[in-house]
Amino acid sequence: MPAHTGILLVVSGPSGSGKTTLCRRLAADREAHYSISCCTRQPRPGEIADQDYHFLSREAFAARVAAGDFLEHALVHGNQYGTLRSEVLGFLDAGTDVVMDIDVQGAAQVRACTNPAIQRALVDLFVMPPSDEELRARLTGRGTDSPDTIALRMTNAIGEMRHWPSYTYRLLSATHEEDYARFKALLTAERLRVSRLNGLPSPAAEITPA
Ligand code: 5GP
Repeated sequence: MPAHTGILLVVSGPSGSGKTTLCRRLAADREAHYSISCCTRQPRPGEIADQDYHFLSREAFAARVAAGDFLEHALVHGNQYGTLRSEVLGFLDAGTDVVMDIDVQGAAQVRACTNPAIQRALVDLFVMPPSDEELRARLTGRGTDSPDTIALRMTNAIGEMRHWPSYTYRLLSATHEEDYARFKALLTAERLRVSRLNGLPSPAAEITPA
């Protein structure tokens, strides 16, 4: 039996906040399964299908919506994005922690989800960029998006940032290392929650002197 029940770490924040890097690093360190989303946008240079995203046509995405395959889905920056149930539920059942990088609409859907396994597992975090100037610099510096796309993402970011009070946790981004240390500390603390522990001895057994 795993030591604790699976945690569903839902991470949101505007593009350029650094949230994807945090989530990916957690998975690379084998601390959690990274939920690979479906999306209808074109792959960016260097992105690998079925590793970064499951890239779907609009028709294929709509078919999966109709089949009820998504835990949540939303229109973000003009494209459809969604989390497959199969990327989450089986892992949580097995006691594996899952990290999801999704927008504020998707996070609201997960929060509203009535599945008790999801409710028990859920921890939500909003990653904030340190300032508007730093966010613009990060979006421009990526070099992967056109000026129009950057402008759209900047406008959307300002709208998204209004949602941080809906989250249980907020991380104000600093350096990569500081952010990651705080991110891991959150996961570590959640793993220690008594309500998540499996196979607890009775409290009396732990404190009875020999
Ligand atoms: P990008 O195109 O830059 O990879 O992602 C754009 C936005 O879509 C990000 O805010 C990201 O968190 C969000 N996103 C990625 N996957 C999903 C998903 O499965 N569901 C939702 N609702 N948003 C997602």
